[in-house]
Amino acid sequence: MNALDNILVDLTELHTHLSTSVTPHLLWELAHRQGIALWEKDYWSFIEKMQITWTVDFQKFHDYFDTIQMIQSSPMGVEASVHEAVWLSYRKSNITTLEIRINPMRRNKEGLFDLDRIIFNAIVWMRRAMMEYPVKAWLIIETDRRFTLEQTEIIFNKAIDFAGQWVIWVDVSWPNVDNFSVKDLAPHFLRARDAWLWLTFHTWEAQSPDEVREVMKYITPDRIGHGITTATDPKLMDELAKKWVVLEVCPTSNVCTELVDSYDDFYDMFQLFKKHGVLFTINADNPMLLQTNVKKEFQVLYDNNVLTLKDIKDCIKLARDSSFLHRL
Ligand SMILES: [Zn+2]
Repeated sequence: MNALDNILVDLTELHTHLSTSVTPHLLWELAHRQGIALWEKDYWSFIEKMQITWTVDFQKFHDYFDTIQMIQSSPMGVEASVHEAVWLSYRKSNITTLEIRINPMRRNKEGLFDLDRIIFNAIVWMRRAMMEYPVKAWLIIETDRRFTLEQTEIIFNKAIDFAGQWVIWVDVSWPNVDNFSVKDLAPHFLRARDAWLWLTFHTWEAQSPDEVREVMKYITPDRIGHGITTATDPKLMDELAKKWVVLEVCPTSNVCTELVDSYDDFYDMFQLFKKHGVLFTINADNPMLLQTNVKKEFQVLYDNNVLTLKDIKDCIKLARDSSFLHRL
């Protein structure tokens, strides 16, 4: 083992989605087991199409999520996916601390399945995987920027009902949509915080720092999903540092969606973060869809001289310290 391999053990994944943390093989099987008519009838073509090996437009990239969430939309689809997400993380990437993001309302066939059942089955099969592998895992319940405030209220009510029962965080994801208001969403996040849930907030790489400013003003989450555009704003970086807000940076995801030109571009960004004391971690975001994982992320950043061995050690420790278990 080389020096890097020696430290890439006991890793933590803070930012990964259930949709893109499972293999296309499992999605194919789940679709057939449930009698779902897929748009692709040939197995090999499906497998090829469900793994991105090229760059893809940021909005188009999210079409993949619609397909996958449709296949995962049942208690059976969710439980099998969560189970695989845990063991894949451990076997492929030495992950022993794992947070999985799941939007239950994107997986209940618009009310056909009970939301409680979706969350319950996710928890039970996550626990089952935890008995098989030395992984500590829990769920981040997320809402969607496209949802109404009423839908978000229902989802966060569920998160609060399950708070402490392996549901520890809440989040909002999906790219920008018209009429999305951080201010309107804020009361739901603050209510979740009152119920002892931790808060993270996808405020994407594609957006201007304006939204991050609003997120800081109205919510001040414990972590921010991505948040890399903050590197353009020294004042904002100082505020993030002062309030100990941890960024969940996902380099391959940003490069694949053409929001960052190359891995090299992360060098200057991380230098700025370090200069301003901004806390950042490295995550996979969409490990199976983009054929990456936390280990590979560190490897590519090391190979491109973006992060040193010391930087990587610091990121690994910070990720562990920023996860729920280590905050207690
Ligand atoms: Zn994400």
